[in-house]
Amino acid sequence: MKTSIATVSISGDLKEKLHAIAKAGFDGVEIFENDFLAFDESPRQVGQIVKDHGLEITLFQPFRDFEGMPEPLRSRTFDRAERKFDLMQEMGTDLVLVCSNVSSAALGGIDRAAADFFELGERAAKRGLRVGYEALAWGRHIHDHRDAWEIVRRADHPNIGLILDSFHTLSRKIDVNSIRSIPKEKIFIIQLADAPLIDMDLLYWSRHFRNMPGEGDLPVLDFMNAVAATGYDGYLSLEIFNDQFRGGSPAAIAVDGRRSLVYLGDQVRRAVSDSNLTLAPMPPRAEVEGVAFVEFTVDEAEISALSDRLRALGFRHVGRHKTKRVDVFRQRGINLVVNADQGGFAGASYALHGQSAYAMGLWVGDAQAALARAEALGAERFEQSLDPGEIEMPAIRGVGGGILYFLDRKSSLGRIWEIEFDPVEDSADWQPVGLTGVDHVAQTMKYEELLTWLLFYTAILDAHKTPMVDIIDPAGVVRSQVVENGPGTLRITLNGAENRNTLAGHFIAETFGSGIQHLAFATDDIFATATALSANGFTTLAISPNYYDDLEARFGLDPDFTERLKAHNILYDRDEHGEYFQLYSPTYGEGFFFEIVQRSGYRGYGAANAIFRIAALRRHLRPIGLPKR
Ligand code: MG
Ligand code: MG
Repeated sequence: MKTSIATVSISGDLKEKLHAIAKAGFDGVEIFENDFLAFDESPRQVGQIVKDHGLEITLFQPFRDFEGMPEPLRSRTFDRAERKFDLMQEMGTDLVLVCSNVSSAALGGIDRAAADFFELGERAAKRGLRVGYEALAWGRHIHDHRDAWEIVRRADHPNIGLILDSFHTLSRKIDVNSIRSIPKEKIFIIQLADAPLIDMDLLYWSRHFRNMPGEGDLPVLDFMNAVAATGYDGYLSLEIFNDQFRGGSPAAIAVDGRRSLVYLGDQVRRAVSDSNLTLAPMPPRAEVEGVAFVEFTVDEAEISALSDRLRALGFRHVGRHKTKRVDVFRQRGINLVVNADQGGFAGASYALHGQSAYAMGLWVGDAQAALARAEALGAERFEQSLDPGEIEMPAIRGVGGGILYFLDRKSSLGRIWEIEFDPVEDSADWQPVGLTGVDHVAQTMKYEELLTWLLFYTAILDAHKTPMVDIIDPAGVVRSQVVENGPGTLRITLNGAENRNTLAGHFIAETFGSGIQHLAFATDDIFATATALSANGFTTLAISPNYYDDLEARFGLDPDFTERLKAHNILYDRDEHGEYFQLYSPTYGEGFFFEIVQRSGYRGYGAANAIFRIAALRRHLRPIGLPKR
């Protein structure tokens, strides 16, 4: 499988773009005319720079408003084409993309267009060049790949072929099965893009909101399966117009792009057994059975305060690492690791971010297989030196430079606590509070990183993303999207902060990076848990009384029930599947907090309550914008 990306998809000047594209592992690049025009080097030198990066120019584009022109415009378009052919030959590419005519001067007629393409094919053939025709979704006469294919078919010229672009086909909901009968040698290249489902003008949608396959909502896999059925074995080329990507890091966007194609290729390989798109096999997406642990990095001086907080939440100190300054606290299946080791990555992470939940371990069926898949998808492996007696735990770098570990029960990883830790008798007299597991882990990041991590998690883990929800913070909007699996054994909420004044934005700014901002534990009885918490002296986040007046009216709640919620600062929500109860801790440090939830069938995350929770949390935070103490 050969991968390519259009220069328009990422930011930077042409040199920066080519560098990022090559580094991400692409084989080819589409040169956008404007990227070339804005660059100071000659076409020949551009061709050389591309070669020096080990890349191939897959095509030159766009050539606009060609077919169906009346004279004298028609002659001029052919003159224009000859000039582009000169340029292409100097640059060293043999394929040009002609997109369907949008000019009001264009005349319709399949045969007229076919005749124009035949003549262009004759001219291209003299120079050994090829022309690919693409139906723009907003073309004046041609806006459907089936019509474009009919024109190419009637032109009947070996140097004229079709270019299929998933966005143009899928945005118009054209049946992808119509692709299956197109001869593969007439498909000159496949362009791929996804997009979020937004009801808007096609041109505007395409120019600003395209994203990588798997990041949006279009059925790009169905499109690709139809392409694979033709036997197509050429380039898969990303053509992404996205305002955010154009303002983002070229390296990060290029890595996302390459990951999206490899993930798509893997899905096609599993769906179409005789596909010609060869891709090295990789293990399937890892099924997550649960969160094995969450690890905090702390300073020696902070250990006792954090330990007491965990004890008040009902955790017992159950183990001490045999060689490192690392403790484990447990309640039922929840393991929280407190790492004050100065030597390793935890220490480095502390130096950079301060006290934070910087690592998480996931139970999977096969930890080595999960690692192999992650690496095949371009994730960065994490390793650090081991003390004698320590087990090597497969791990990758995740959100905010944190660590994502994989554990399984079939290897010694399943006995990590017995192998690496000595048991401890916790003499503190705090009581368990009935927490049964981790309900969800909330990670906060800059908004522009949100798609990166959605793709990261859904490509590696067997999980899907839910629609985006806007969380209204008094200081701005935070966009939230969830990665979860069917059984509910994996739930990661990703919150993208657009500015630093929101609670989420403040967290990122003050902790110098993205990371886990809150941990939500599950209970079967939130009232019993709340009572036990208060016996332990645990302070819950105070919620405004006004919230409860509104809640009672909104859901028609029994006043006694509302009083009980209010007495324990419990937030309430309901959907068609059931009820949801939430309570929160105050924020610690720069905005980290705990949440406890009870779900009775409810599928969401209490988005309707977020505004009240944020308002309450903000009261506990030192004033935003003041310099750090
Ligand atoms: Mg295109
Ligand atoms: Mg939550």
